Amino acid sequence: MSITAAAPGASPLIEMRGVTREFPAGDGVVAVLKDIDLTIRAGEMVAIVGPSGSGKSTLMNLIGCLDQPTRGSYRVLGRETREMAPDELARLRREHFGFVFQRYQLLSGLSAQDNVEIPAVYAGLGGAARHDRSSALLARLGLNDRMHHRPGQLSGGQQQRVSIARALMNGGDVVLADEPTGALDSATGAEVMRILQELNAAGHTIIIVTHDAKVAAHARRVIEIADGRITADKPATALAAGSPSPQPSPQRGEGAKPEAAAAPDLTPLPLAGEGRGEGQRPTPRAPMSAWFARLNEAARMALHAMAAHRMRTLLTMLGIIIGIVSVVLVNALGEGSKRQILADISAMGTNTIDVFPGSGFGDRRADSIRTLRTPDVQALQALPFVDGVTPQVQSSATLRRGAVEKSASVTGVGEQFFRVRGLTLAEGVAFDAEGVRRLALDAVIDDNARRALFAPHENALGQIVLLGKVPVRVIGVTAKRKSAFGISEGISVWLPYTTVMGRISGSTHFQNITVRVADGAPMKAAEDEITALLTQRHGSKDFFTHNSDTIRATVVKTTFILQLFISSIAVIALVVGGIGVMNIMLVSVTERTPEIGIRMAVGARQGDILQQFLIEAVFVCLLGGLIGIGLALGLGALIQLFVKQFQLMFSGGAIALAVACSTLIGLGFGFWPARNAARLNPVEALARQ
Ligand code: ADP
Ligand code: MG
Repeated sequence: MSITAAAPGASPLIEMRGVTREFPAGDGVVAVLKDIDLTIRAGEMVAIVGPSGSGKSTLMNLIGCLDQPTRGSYRVLGRETREMAPDELARLRREHFGFVFQRYQLLSGLSAQDNVEIPAVYAGLGGAARHDRSSALLARLGLNDRMHHRPGQLSGGQQQRVSIARALMNGGDVVLADEPTGALDSATGAEVMRILQELNAAGHTIIIVTHDAKVAAHARRVIEIADGRITADKPATALAAGSPSPQPSPQRGEGAKPEAAAAPDLTPLPLAGEGRGEGQRPTPRAPMSAWFARLNEAARMALHAMAAHRMRTLLTMLGIIIGIVSVVLVNALGEGSKRQILADISAMGTNTIDVFPGSGFGDRRADSIRTLRTPDVQALQALPFVDGVTPQVQSSATLRRGAVEKSASVTGVGEQFFRVRGLTLAEGVAFDAEGVRRLALDAVIDDNARRALFAPHENALGQIVLLGKVPVRVIGVTAKRKSAFGISEGISVWLPYTTVMGRISGSTHFQNITVRVADGAPMKAAEDEITALLTQRHGSKDFFTHNSDTIRATVVKTTFILQLFISSIAVIALVVGGIGVMNIMLVSVTERTPEIGIRMAVGARQGDILQQFLIEAVFVCLLGGLIGIGLALGLGALIQLFVKQFQLMFSGGAIALAVACSTLIGLGFGFWPARNAARLNPVEALARQ
């Protein structure tokens, strides 16, 4: 459907019936436009004149669908605008109208060319086509060498020509110019008027608002407005009075020369991808790729805005960075220490069951229960699923060699102890069943004992040391163990339990019995059977069992709770960071309200505005997240330099979660400010300077 070439008799381009626009004022309302009836046909050049404050701009905003009537009917091409959704109105602005404002309303951060391209971005025109068309338009308006200048680097007249190019970018069938010469000197103003006349001659409908009768004289029809009412509507009489009459340029199409500044060729430029003709629209691209192009543009704008306020962006990100660093680092520390602890437990033997006297840890009667005895060990050994059994009887004694004296913990154990507990010997061997049977005075000492009693290169094996008054022979030394629980400084000596009971402590019962269950046998069933056997033997259940799986489960649970606790603090940091983002986005929206107004005027949908601010929020958070991850990895490496006990475990999952978290925070906390921006009324946004 074409506007520029509307056939006579077709529905009028613009048709207002009984249009009233009221604004709230104090308790009541003030009617700025009263009962306006107005019809404009395609191809007309109309001037709306009247004193300042008479309602011209208000009328112009209604015509351009930047604002809506309080009452009355406004039809564009026969379609009632009152029934249109905001995005349909945006589409009208985007595809049919081109605005030229008194104060140009260019985005100061963008080049002339980028400004001109904005309407085409929202129309979904591809980058290359956009570039070609904006270059051609700027060239035709004599701005060949000013395309990459910012508005601040251009004169008023040049800025106004940029804004005219922008109005034409999507076709600009209807150019709405509100006091286009108001800020220009008379020569430049006349130049702009000539351009508008040329455009009209080329088929564009031109509506100009002015309070200047000389400017109005360029139009073919003049509508006078006073105090919100149309007071006159007549053909311009002054047309003949010396003003340049529009003459279509003889030069058309590709032949346009740069010196067109003097006499620009303003015949309609073919829109991208189409042959010459009239009323072309940008070739609609596949919805998906058009959407992607708009997303890309929104991303570019977001980066632009972030770069324009680097310090502010960085400070905003700080909260997110701290949050992400704590989440990632806490997780790596927690995971690393947990794995180390679990590895230590595995080394101790994962499939062991301990039997202790009493009803549980901390039972005060446990000391007086003396029922764990040698026959129990033999009975347990006979169970089919048992791989090994070792009793333990605790004592302590002074360990002496020559002049050296140390207190040592003495443990009487069975010959299977070292295998059951997963202890390895660095030197020598452990005592065997025969040693246990004959109460052998053979001792296995630990690394601490070896260092206390022997010189580093001295052979400890076969040496006699005194345990209290009993001489024992060192037959083995255990390997040093690294443990997340710390390295024990205590001195330990292991002897056959028979030796400890018979020759050292005189005790007749064990402190506990450890059973190693054969690999693959179910722990729970084994524990039940051991309980049943000993209960039957003792006549009552005067003991309790404890399996290493329980320890493992406890460790997993404790570290999980701890991690959860610290993580929740980190999450609080993230939320605080998110609130910071929201705060800055609200400021950003307020600050950029005029920009939003301009974007809406050239046809941005609500979704486009929402997207632009949401993407900005997400970028801030995502960048913060990435910096946070980098910082966490760096700090992790630094920590690792000092902490040797365990390895930090950075899990990909936790990092992905952190990134997802920061993105969600951006979306979550950015949504409200972004929606505020998207819901702004275009005319109000534009007015807020
Ligand atoms: P003109 O463009 O003819 O100078 P305007 O259309 O801008 O006049 O304004 C006409 C009248 O409407 C003025 O008195 C102005 O104060 C009033 N007006 C315009 N916009 C608003 C608004 N958003 N709220 C209240 N009053 C407004
Ligand atoms: Mg005005």
